[in-house]
Amino acid sequence: MSAAIAWIFILVYPAYRLVRYLRMKRYFASPEFIAQKQEVAAVVAEHNDVSGYVAEIRDSGKFSIGHSSTGSQAQLASYDNTSKFKYKRDRNVADYASSNVHNSSLQVVRNASSDPIKYLIKYFDIPADEEKLADIESMGESISRLEDAIENLQLREASISTAIAPPGFILKHYLEEFRTQVGLSVPRLTIPYPEYVFQYVSAGGNSSQESRIELNSSAIDSLIETLSEKIKWKKSAAGQRSLMTAALREFIKNRDKYACKSCKVSIKDEAHLLLEVDHIMPVSKGGLSIETNLQTLCWKCNRTKSNKY
Ligand SMILES: [Zn+2]
Repeated sequence: MSAAIAWIFILVYPAYRLVRYLRMKRYFASPEFIAQKQEVAAVVAEHNDVSGYVAEIRDSGKFSIGHSSTGSQAQLASYDNTSKFKYKRDRNVADYASSNVHNSSLQVVRNASSDPIKYLIKYFDIPADEEKLADIESMGESISRLEDAIENLQLREASISTAIAPPGFILKHYLEEFRTQVGLSVPRLTIPYPEYVFQYVSAGGNSSQESRIELNSSAIDSLIETLSEKIKWKKSAAGQRSLMTAALREFIKNRDKYACKSCKVSIKDEAHLLLEVDHIMPVSKGGLSIETNLQTLCWKCNRTKSNKY
């Protein structure tokens, strides 16, 4: 009996796959699909532009801050495991090569997992000064722009799928083929979040524990707020500024009624409009993060503007 079932699988399954494959070929060649594809062509082109923009933000953005000073001179010494039995334990070697790894005591690893921002500042030499804060804010902007642009891309792709509404088996089994046929470029969807690691390796290398801190935009916002509280602000104009966090960006977009200050396009005109918050006078030219120096721009106007500088 079980042999009969096995035969059914051996014969029927490939036939089922073949039929499905032929149905897929027929669907993509159908006049109906070709017509729908032409209807969404402009939306697809726009999606692909945003996809290129995501790549630009990734290539030009800033995605690291601070470093651990442990092991910064480790290359000056040789390291050899001289234990009698030459145990092969990779964990025995502390990871000094990466500046994002802090080798520390077990207590520090445990404390870092319960109080990550405080330990990040302390052990990765992040000074509480105005310059470093501006640096971290600029990294936070790169990361949140990337997060927003990627989310926007996913919304656009979902709306293209909904508009075409292919048969269920296409989305289930031939999603990549669907993207190719529609003409969607494959975007790079991963975000290079900076990651900081507190690592403990016991003397014998028998045990190892670590605590990881990933700096996504909400972690960066906490870092910005914590650092700002530590800074003894000078009585300068910089001291009057706001902190460049997600809350401020949302405030500016809301103030500008979710419309681009340059070309005036708004989310009422375009459901998937990607809006960004721009420094009117760039930070690199001394512009401050104050409400009067911030404006909402659509991604296209913001890209044109930043290419000029
Ligand atoms: Zn615009």
